[in-house]
Amino acid sequence: MPLAHPAHLMFSSDSLLKALYESLPHAVLVVDADRNIVAANAAAQTLFGYAERELTAMRPGQLHAEEAESRDIGETLFPLGTDSGTLHRQVEFRCKDGSVFPAELTVSHIHAESGAPVGLVVMIRDLTEVLAAQAEQLGIERILKTALETISEGFAVYDPDDRLVLCNNAYKEIYAISAPAMQTGRTFESIIRYGLEYGQYPEAGETKEEREQWLQMRLSNHTVPSTPMVQKVAAERWVQVDERVTEDNYRVGLRTDISTLWRVKSEAERLGTMLEGVAQEVYLVNLKDGRILSANRSALENLQYTLEEIRELTPRDINADHSVFDLAEKIAPIIAGSAKVLTIDTEHMRKDGTTYACRVRVERLDTESEPVVMAFAEDITERLAIERSLERKQHEFETLVANLPDFITRSRPDTTLTYVNDHYARFTGLNVDEMVGRRFIDFTPEPLRAGLMDHFASLTLEAPIKTMEQEMVRFDGVRRWYLWSNLMVFDDGAPVELVSVGRDITESREARERIAAQSRELSMRNDALEQFGGVVSHDLKAPLRQIQLFADMIAEDVAAGKTDDLEMYSTHVSERARLLQRMITSLFEYSQLAYQAITRKHFEVTSAITAAWDNLSVNVVESGGRLKDETNAIAYADFDLMTQLLQNLFANSLKYRQDARAPEIRVTSQYADGIVSIIIEDNGIGIDPVYAESIFGVFQRLHRDERTYAGSGIGLSLCRRIAESHGGSIVLDREFRDGARFVVQLPFGRA
Ligand code: ADP
Repeated sequence: MPLAHPAHLMFSSDSLLKALYESLPHAVLVVDADRNIVAANAAAQTLFGYAERELTAMRPGQLHAEEAESRDIGETLFPLGTDSGTLHRQVEFRCKDGSVFPAELTVSHIHAESGAPVGLVVMIRDLTEVLAAQAEQLGIERILKTALETISEGFAVYDPDDRLVLCNNAYKEIYAISAPAMQTGRTFESIIRYGLEYGQYPEAGETKEEREQWLQMRLSNHTVPSTPMVQKVAAERWVQVDERVTEDNYRVGLRTDISTLWRVKSEAERLGTMLEGVAQEVYLVNLKDGRILSANRSALENLQYTLEEIRELTPRDINADHSVFDLAEKIAPIIAGSAKVLTIDTEHMRKDGTTYACRVRVERLDTESEPVVMAFAEDITERLAIERSLERKQHEFETLVANLPDFITRSRPDTTLTYVNDHYARFTGLNVDEMVGRRFIDFTPEPLRAGLMDHFASLTLEAPIKTMEQEMVRFDGVRRWYLWSNLMVFDDGAPVELVSVGRDITESREARERIAAQSRELSMRNDALEQFGGVVSHDLKAPLRQIQLFADMIAEDVAAGKTDDLEMYSTHVSERARLLQRMITSLFEYSQLAYQAITRKHFEVTSAITAAWDNLSVNVVESGGRLKDETNAIAYADFDLMTQLLQNLFANSLKYRQDARAPEIRVTSQYADGIVSIIIEDNGIGIDPVYAESIFGVFQRLHRDERTYAGSGIGLSLCRRIAESHGGSIVLDREFRDGARFVVQLPFGRA
C-alpha cells in the first residue's frame, strides 16, 4: 500500500509502516473483507499467546471472550462498506491459555485505491494494568476520603481557580454557619462571603466596611499563606488555620480546633500578667536542673537582677549564705514529692549582697515533662518587726494579767478553759496547766451549777456581758465572794468564747451587809424607841399622877386643918417618888444598854456567865444561891451585853426564890443549825405561862407589891432587847414547872 509522504523523507512509506507495525507496543491484526486474520504483529502474538500462523488461521471473532459481544462487533463491521465506519470500544478477549483480559479495541478501514474498503486494521490495547491501576487509584481515593472524614481537623482543597474541590465533614462542622455554601466548584471567596453574611466570623467586625476589610485581609492570606493564624469561628471557639499552596497551585487548608488550647493559653497569659503584677515575688524553678525558670517584676526589682541574669541562677544563689542549708533541709519534702505546699522563712540576698527576711510559700506544680516549683516570696522585714512588737505587747499584757488581782479566764462556751491566770489557779489550789482543758463549771459547787449555766446561756449577741455575784470556796475551805463579769464572744451569731473576770468583793460585800444590818437595826431601834417612849411616858405618868393626887389631898387637908392622914399621904408620896426614881434610873440603864452599838466577838459562854455571877456577889451571899454552869458553847456576840443579859436573868432567879429553899440556877447550852441556845433555869416561884409574853414588856411586873419583890419591870425587856439586837430571841419555857426556865437563842457565826 503506497502512502503519500513528504518528499524529504529518506525512507519509503512501506518500510516505515512495517517498522511501526512491528514495533507498536499494542497488538495489531489485519483482517480482510472475508473476516480472516491476514496478519498479526509481534505484540499481538505476545498478547494472545498464539504464533502468527495460528492467528492467520483464525477469524477475529474467535478471540473474543464474550460471544454476544463478538457477534455485535461483527454485525457492526461486516459486511465492509463505506458506511460501516470505524469502531472504538472496550471489550474482553481470551488468550490461547484461556485467560481473559480487558482491552481497548480500535478498528479502522483499509481502503482500496478506488476508495472501497478492503479490510480492517484492528488495534488492541491491553487494559489489564490500566484498569488495575485505575481500580487501585479508586481504592486509594476511597481510603483517603474515609481518612479525611475520620480526622478531627477540618480539611479542604481549592483548585487553582480557587474553587472547592473537596472538604471533609469536620471542615463543615467547624464552619457550621457556612456549611450550606460548601459545594464543590464554589469559589473560596463566595464561601467566605456567605459565611460573613450569616455571622460565621465574630472577629470580622460590625459594619459593612469593617467586614469588607476583613474579607480582603482573609483573601490575601489565602492567596499567599504565611504562618498559621488563629481564627474565631464562634463564641469560645477558635480554630488554627493552616493553608498551603501545592506545586500545581492547589490550596490545601487544614483547620484545627484549638478552643481548649486557646482558653488555656489565654488563661496562662492572664495568670502570667497577674503574677507579673502581684506585689509578692514569684519564681518558677525547674527541679531538673535547679534553675530559676522565670521570675516576676517584684522578684527582679527586689533582688536587683534582670530576667536573663536570674535565669542563670538557682534558689541557693538568691538566699543568704547562712539560710541555704536550712532552706535545703526545709524544702526536701517538696523535692522528694512528699509535700505539695510548704511555707518557709528564709533570708533573700540581693545582687549587692544585702539581705532581707522572706516568707516563701513553695508549691509543687509539675508539668507533664518537667518537675516545677512555684514560689511566692514576701518581704517580711516589716511584718517581723510588727510581730516582735506584738510579742512584746503580748508579753506586757500577760505580765499585766498575771499581776492583776482579778481572776481571768477564757473558755469555750461549755466552760472548757483555754486560759486561766495564775491568780485564779492559785485560788483553786491547782496550777494553770492542770486547769486548762477542764471545765470550770466543775470547780463550782454542785447546787450553783445549773444557775450558772443558765446565766451563760442568757448572754446574747445584743447583751453579751452580764455580771453576777458568786460565793466561792478557796482550796482551803475559806469562802470568798466574787463579782464575775462574763462576756460571751460571738462569731457569725454563734457563741465561740466566754471571757470572765472575777473580782474579790468579800470586804465590800461585808461592808455592805454591815451597813444593811446597821440600818436594819437602826430602824428596829427607832421602832422600839417609839414604842418604848409611848409605854414609858404612860407608865411614868402613873406614879406622877399618884404623887399629884396625894399632894392635892395633903394640900386639901392642910387647908381644912386636918392632920390625921397627913403622915399616910406623905408616906405614899415618898414611896411613889422612890418608885419614880427607880423607874427613871432603870430607864436610864435600859436606854444606856438597849441602844448601844454592839461589838461582836467569839467567846466562851462560860466566861460571860462567870462575869455575870461575879457582878451579883452581894445578892448571891444574901440569898445563898448556887450556880451550876453546864455550858459548853462559843457565842459570837457582844460580851458586855450578853453578860448583862445573863446577870438580869440570874438576879431574877435569886430574887424570885421560894422561901423554903436556897435558889439554884442551872445553865446549859445546845448548838444546832448555826444557832446557839443557852438555857437558864431556876428552882424559884416560877411564872404562870399566861404571862409568858407580857413579862418581857417594859415596866411589866407580876408583883405589884414592892415589899415582897422589889423591881421596876425593866430587866426582862432589856434581856429581850439584847437578844433581838443580836438577831436572836429569848422566851419563857411554858412547859417548865419546877421554877422558871428561859431559853436564849443566838445565831452563831458571821451573820
Ligand atoms: P422586875 O424583876 O424588876 O419586876 P423583870 O422585867 O425582871 O422586872 O421581871 C418581870 C416580872 O417577871 C417580874 O416582876 C416577875 O414577876 C417575873 N419574873 C421574872 N423573873 C422571874 C423568875 N426567875 N421567877 C419568877 N418570876 C420571875
